[in-house]
Amino acid sequence: RKQHLAKGAVLAALDLSLPSWTAQRSVSSVTIPPPACMLLPLEVPNRYLFGPGPSNVPPRVLAAGGRPIIGHLHHEMYEIMNDIKKGIQYAFQTNNHMTLAMSGSGHAAMECAVFNVVEPGESVLVSVNGVWGERVAEIAERMGAKVHTLVKAPGGYFTNEEIEKALAKHKPVLFFLTHGESSAGLAHPIDGIGDLCRKYDCLLLVDSVASLGAAPLLMDQQKIDILYTGSQKALNAPPGTAPISFNDRACHKMFNRKTKPVSYLFDMTHLSNYWGNDGKPARDYHHTGPVSGFLALRESLAILAEKGLENSWRHHKEVAEYLWKGLEDLGLKLFIKDKDLRLPSVTTITIPDGYEWKELLAYMIKHHQLEMTGGLGPSIGMVIRVGLMGYNCSTSNADKALAALSDALKHCPKRKA
Ligand code: PMP
Repeated sequence: RKQHLAKGAVLAALDLSLPSWTAQRSVSSVTIPPPACMLLPLEVPNRYLFGPGPSNVPPRVLAAGGRPIIGHLHHEMYEIMNDIKKGIQYAFQTNNHMTLAMSGSGHAAMECAVFNVVEPGESVLVSVNGVWGERVAEIAERMGAKVHTLVKAPGGYFTNEEIEKALAKHKPVLFFLTHGESSAGLAHPIDGIGDLCRKYDCLLLVDSVASLGAAPLLMDQQKIDILYTGSQKALNAPPGTAPISFNDRACHKMFNRKTKPVSYLFDMTHLSNYWGNDGKPARDYHHTGPVSGFLALRESLAILAEKGLENSWRHHKEVAEYLWKGLEDLGLKLFIKDKDLRLPSVTTITIPDGYEWKELLAYMIKHHQLEMTGGLGPSIGMVIRVGLMGYNCSTSNADKALAALSDALKHCPKRKA
């Protein structure tokens, strides 16, 4: 509050100086004055980011992002990009050569996957059990695909039999599944789905934005054709870069298409050259990649490699179980009943009876500087989401989250019976 008052006072002082500025205007071609807010220092609060992402970034990754900018086409940058590719191959457990990081958030990877392997008029099957399937269905529809959906309420999952029936019926070129459904807190089973997609000559596209590094996923062994993730969840890099990998089946489809992909920026013929994946001697200018974002991503992938994937999976599971027990001890109900289907990175709590979820969240931000979030898309009004990912994943942070929730439950009014 004090900070706000001080800010108000500075703004008032700046406004007072306006007449002298107006006096100079007659000799200036500039008609819009510098905005008063821009003459104040940047203010960023320190918060516990215990929602579904972005999560807090460790000092080591922040420092990597703060290193000097180098040219995006300098040979040192190519080396860093090569390291990133290797880091992604490890994190995804894949030998795919066509592995890279998108210049953009998770949505960039989603669009890149769909735009490159699907041509207008082709059939796409999307499983929708939360917001991410909805998004991919819309992305595919916008580019002119024939979209079919398999739908469940948030928290639901699809059996292999249901998937096989839909593959046989719609004969899609692409099947989309979210591994870590962060809007519902569900970790979808993957085993056997890759084999089904091969049986029906379809590519399997998996979203692991919320699960990579937190829950077991093995791209090659599970026969996932295209896999993507985000930088800002268990990887703990700043938002804005998105690892993605295509196997040979996916490359065959996307490099033998009749039409050009609708996006120039996300066209894999260009991106594969930019990342040195197309075997050509020269890497040409396509776009200017987010250099600082790539430096930070490299560091976050290095941390995962040092820790080891299996350790990371185990650690997330242990902390999640500690959190789940603590939530139940507070009398709260977990939205996903089956423990084996719960996403270890993002836990969903059924909104406790009588409470306004927005008031609980606002209380925790105000009194604990701690972010949790509500639902997203179809899960809005159903859940509160707690994310403890990567750097944030510790029992001491789980205790902080539990203390904040317990305090909010004590102090927020219960409105309904
Ligand atoms: N998929 C999942 C499962 C996600 O949790 C998110 C982000 N919350 C996205 C995709 C989209 O990622 P971004 O916000 O980085 O575009």
